[in-house]
Amino acid sequence: MTSSATLPRQLRGGRPVWADSPRIKVRHHTRLEPITCDVAIVGAGISGAIAALMLAETGKDVIVLDRRPPVTGSTLASTAMIQFEIDTPLTELADRIGARKAERAYRRSFAGNISLRKLAERHGIHCAWKERDALLLAGNEMGSRGLNAEAAYRAKIGLPSNFLSQAELHERYGFDRTGAVLSTGNAELNPAQYAAGAMRAAQALGARIYSPHDVKDVVTGKDSVALRTGSGMAVIAKKAVFATGYEMLPQIPKQKYDIISTWAIATKPLPPDAFWPTRCLVWEAADPYLYMRPTADNRILVGGEDADISEAAKRDAATPRKAQRLLSKLNKLLPGRDLKIDYAWAGTFADSPTGLPFLSEVDSMPNCFALLGCGGNGITFSAIAGELITAWADGRRDPDADLFV
Ligand SMILES: Cc1cc2nc3c(=O)[nH]c(=O)nc-3n(C[C@H](O)[C@H](O)[C@H](O)COP(=O)(O)OP(=O)(O)OC[C@H]3O[C@@H](n4cnc5c(N)ncnc54)[C@H](O)[C@@H]3O)c2cc1C
Repeated sequence: MTSSATLPRQLRGGRPVWADSPRIKVRHHTRLEPITCDVAIVGAGISGAIAALMLAETGKDVIVLDRRPPVTGSTLASTAMIQFEIDTPLTELADRIGARKAERAYRRSFAGNISLRKLAERHGIHCAWKERDALLLAGNEMGSRGLNAEAAYRAKIGLPSNFLSQAELHERYGFDRTGAVLSTGNAELNPAQYAAGAMRAAQALGARIYSPHDVKDVVTGKDSVALRTGSGMAVIAKKAVFATGYEMLPQIPKQKYDIISTWAIATKPLPPDAFWPTRCLVWEAADPYLYMRPTADNRILVGGEDADISEAAKRDAATPRKAQRLLSKLNKLLPGRDLKIDYAWAGTFADSPTGLPFLSEVDSMPNCFALLGCGGNGITFSAIAGELITAWADGRRDPDADLFV
């Protein structure tokens, strides 16, 4: 038996801004008895919470197991820009996987944001949800010509993006770049409050949450899955979902994702005039890239500086330097403000060769569904995963399932 069914990692270092939010604790059972259920979900982060709630809505008997307290994995570190725009531009994705599939992926991502919002509305989840435009600025990966083509392609398939010239960008937002793509249909939220709220709503529909319980071993059968935990207890489920974030099942081929590191800072609260017009989400077509968003309590969240580091100690040692770099880039983008770092943190992160995640049943593990490789659009992909899982648990196949294998 392995030490755990999924590879343990130190998922984050430093103190994320959401750690001090109200309403992020979720009541849970600590004692686990032998149990049977329709669907067992491993992972009580935002992906597990959304899957649990969507499954509970369809009447499934759901249990959630986590080796950590709920909402203390990567979800707490997320900067939670909710974007339909995938890390790989549509023009590039079309070259990689074919135009039809790329267009479907972008449309599905757009719909994913809507289902994320509707789920929160249906269950009254308070998570500082705010609809935001998003501005993709020209950078060293894509200049104005590329962004113009990107906006035109998105508009052609019905997505709400348009190109801003250098002059328009400067006049409307004050940013000095050669161009940008402006999109509606995006949002910001507090990821810890969303996940905790979704889990509480799932509990109200009968879902049970158990922590701390490490799933050590998985035995799959024709019609069921047995999960053995550290306490020696077995959970017998008809199906199991591995919403284990960046702690992946080793059964999933390594070429599906890369483990990297990313960093973020939150400034001290700022006066209203320190913000840019419309307070839209801002990101760059650059490598390394920078992105920023406001928070409900008037901070600026800035992230990026991604690096090919998978060791937590090395990642965390770099945090002071990375935080200063993020601040100095922010000062260049927003000169003349009194910007001070209040929170700085680092997180494990994943990307995939196409920017699309793996959301699928695992070949060698019948009745087991796994999510992984959710990067910059991770939360939107969690919502899509919830829909795919709901169909799969009912014996149906979502029409877009082939995009995420
Ligand atoms: C710094 C940073 C910025 C980000 N910014 C954005 C952004 O702007 N927009 C966006 O959409 N996404 C963003 N992401 C990505 C997004 O945050 C993630 O995709 C998402 O939080 C992952 O949630 P999860 O529930 O899948 O994983 P987690 O929150 O990590 O939850 C997984 C849980 O599984 C548990 N687990 C694992 N293995 C086992 C086991 N064997 N037994 C029991 N429990 C187990 C873990 O303990 C953990 O609690 C960002 C991520 C980071 C780190």
